[in-house]
Amino acid sequence: TVATMAAKSSLLKVILLGDGGVGKSSLMNRYVTNKFDTHLFHTIGVEFLNKDLEVDGHFVTMQIWDTAGQERFRSLRTPFYRGSDCCLLTFSVDDSQSFQNISNWKKEFMYYADVKEPESFPFVVLGNKVDVAERQVSSEEAQTWCRENGNHPYFETSAKNSTNVAVAFEEAVRRVLATEDRTDHLIPTDTINLHRKPKSSSSCC
Ligand code: GDP
Repeated sequence: TVATMAAKSSLLKVILLGDGGVGKSSLMNRYVTNKFDTHLFHTIGVEFLNKDLEVDGHFVTMQIWDTAGQERFRSLRTPFYRGSDCCLLTFSVDDSQSFQNISNWKKEFMYYADVKEPESFPFVVLGNKVDVAERQVSSEEAQTWCRENGNHPYFETSAKNSTNVAVAFEEAVRRVLATEDRTDHLIPTDTINLHRKPKSSSSCC
């Protein structure tokens, strides 16, 4: 049957963290639906979207989580961190405060996500809104931070005009797949109902 012929695929949970307004929902929306307007997202409170993709011969369903505007409500957002396979630390290049805050987001993630191997956990850093003329954070500054804080890959993105959005998400998948022992615990996609049962057990909150 078609079902038995389908390639084995893994579910991989990726979480977008960063200050409110840096473009997390917009990046997720651009990547998954190729649209920019997030008005509907915020209205109905989308928490995650799934995207099927193939990276280097591996079939994965990436479940991308956003904090859905709950950045300020610490107790609401932290349960979502658990079970993440990769964390995308996001700031906006036209907002230096959002850049300074990524180290806090990283710390908070490490504290609440219950990561088994903190040393090798994959983070990817996104400097979003590169289409904006008025920058407050230079590429060099961001690259230096990434190099000195765990050698995280850095991408300058624009959810508005699509710059680097797909490559950044694909790199997130690559980073997860690169750590072989980490992929052992990935849940085969065909064992769960993707549309009704998010990987996080705390989705009821
Ligand atoms: P979130 O709070 O981090 O989820 O941010 P949103 O996705 O809601 O975006 C906040 C605002 O920034 C919205 O007005 C978006 O239209 C805008 N925005 C998001 N990404 C970009 C981008 O790449 N370029 C520009 N110019 N604006 C963006």
